[in-house]
Amino acid sequence: MTKIGVLALQGAFIEHIAILRRLGVEAVEVRLPEDLEGLDGLIIPGGESTTIGKLADTYALTGPLRDFAARKPVWGTCAGMIFMAKDIGREQPLLGVMDIVVERNAFGRQVDSFITPIEVNGFNGSGPFPAVFIRGPRLVEAHGDAEVIARLADGTPVAAREGHWLVTSFHPELTEDARFHELFVRLVEERD
Ligand code: GLN
Repeated sequence: MTKIGVLALQGAFIEHIAILRRLGVEAVEVRLPEDLEGLDGLIIPGGESTTIGKLADTYALTGPLRDFAARKPVWGTCAGMIFMAKDIGREQPLLGVMDIVVERNAFGRQVDSFITPIEVNGFNGSGPFPAVFIRGPRLVEAHGDAEVIARLADGTPVAAREGHWLVTSFHPELTEDARFHELFVRLVEERD
């Protein structure tokens, strides 16, 4: 059975676990390096990227997470996307694996949260996806093999893929629509 971990240091990890279980995938919380053993993929949830980065350093997880990401699929949502980026234009602890430039809090404050339908490459005409934005980051640039797979109506890029890595500026775990989780599970199962 496919086994996917969700980094559970801070943020919206419970919601990701619930959707993965609904899809029939074994889902576990990751807090310590040994929790990564035997996982086929990992989700880094939304929350606060500075807190996630500091806690990852405190629990000696940053190195093991980087080694894991080199071998296995990883998906970062919102703060998770920031944590995975190589360049966010400021200093804070990052995993720093993906060749993207990201700007934090680019869509305004908590009170500016919104939900908007987006078209996603690879969803094959199955209809727009309801994207929930909560102080999300903006994908400023995608370099090398990183490829934008979804944009807002005004053209702003909000999701990207680079090989076995996926990032979204928004929170698919806060909707009933499981298509992003299905996409990630496919990435994981194709790599096995
Ligand atoms: N603003 C948060 C950060 O910069 C991300 C918000 C979220 O994950 N919903 O880390």
